[in-house]
Amino acid sequence: MICPKCNRVTRYRDMPTLECPECGYLYVLNPKEEAVSDRRVRKIADKLSEGEHYFTSEQLIAACLLKRERSTSAYKALSVLVLAAAIAIVPWLVTQGVLDPAGGWVGGIILLGCGIFAWFKKPKLDSLACSVRRYLGAKGHPYHLNSKVVERILDVLDRKDLKEWHADKALIVDDADFAVYLYLNNFHRDQNCYILSEDKRPSGVFKSFQQRVSAGEDIPTFIIHDAGLSEGQMLSRMRKDGEWQFLSEIRDLGIHAKDLPNTKHGTWIHRNSGTVYAHNKSTTFIDKMIAQDCIFVIDSVPVKKLSPAIAWCMASGLTLMSSEMFAAMSTNQSVAGGDGGYGGGSYGGFDDFG
Ligand SMILES: [Zn+2]
Repeated sequence: MICPKCNRVTRYRDMPTLECPECGYLYVLNPKEEAVSDRRVRKIADKLSEGEHYFTSEQLIAACLLKRERSTSAYKALSVLVLAAAIAIVPWLVTQGVLDPAGGWVGGIILLGCGIFAWFKKPKLDSLACSVRRYLGAKGHPYHLNSKVVERILDVLDRKDLKEWHADKALIVDDADFAVYLYLNNFHRDQNCYILSEDKRPSGVFKSFQQRVSAGEDIPTFIIHDAGLSEGQMLSRMRKDGEWQFLSEIRDLGIHAKDLPNTKHGTWIHRNSGTVYAHNKSTTFIDKMIAQDCIFVIDSVPVKKLSPAIAWCMASGLTLMSSEMFAAMSTNQSVAGGDGGYGGGSYGGFDDFG
């Protein structure tokens, strides 16, 4: 095991208490039992933040899953090679007299066994979300949006004087964490857009928005959300909520399960257990995920791709991940340059939300 603090390499069995003998770093994750190690989570988190971007727990989980999946595919490729060697090369060597038959058979069977084992080896994903959350809870990260940071930032936003800010549209998201996440990534400034959570936070922004709309100003309002059983109900919940009644028109740009066959990438997290699943385009898979109460998390899409996608959907009125969105984007991509930053290659590979 490599210490994330001092880089000292220590053998697992030499560290019964999971404490680095060099610097005293206490490991949170046991590499024998968990899908990721302290060092790996830390490295992926550093890469995700690039020293300037805040990230949510879900984003880090999704990034860890992606790494895990890539290493699993490398494993699969290796197992195919080993199987090929067992099935083709070993018998050939025997017929050529390079290997004696007894040695050849033993070697072939061992290779076959290794290949089959490698092929069927499943990554331990059931603990992935829990491992990442435990690591964040114990060690934290300067750019992780934990609940304390979220509350502190909401508080700062609540105390801001918003009189001078004339946002020309509003975006309502399903939770305050995600709203704060967008504020920290300057989405409100780039898009001149109020960002609010479904539970009306930051409250100062909510008041300001409500006053302007009630005074007759026309501020186009959009909602976005994850895909899941209760997530798809966000618009109807708001329609029943007395405090949102000042809004006459709300456009739902959120992710809907029916659109998910349009993308190859993304992450599902089980609402209660935290088990993580890599997205799959098949409708049987998607239906199963929804029925099991898993959520396709919108923030599993990295901010560099997510922010422009949301901006694009607000400008065009198309739903996130809908086939219309992908079609319109690919048409736009063929127009080199474009204007307002929406055209050209800047969106390169929208389906590649990896
Ligand atoms: Zn150390």
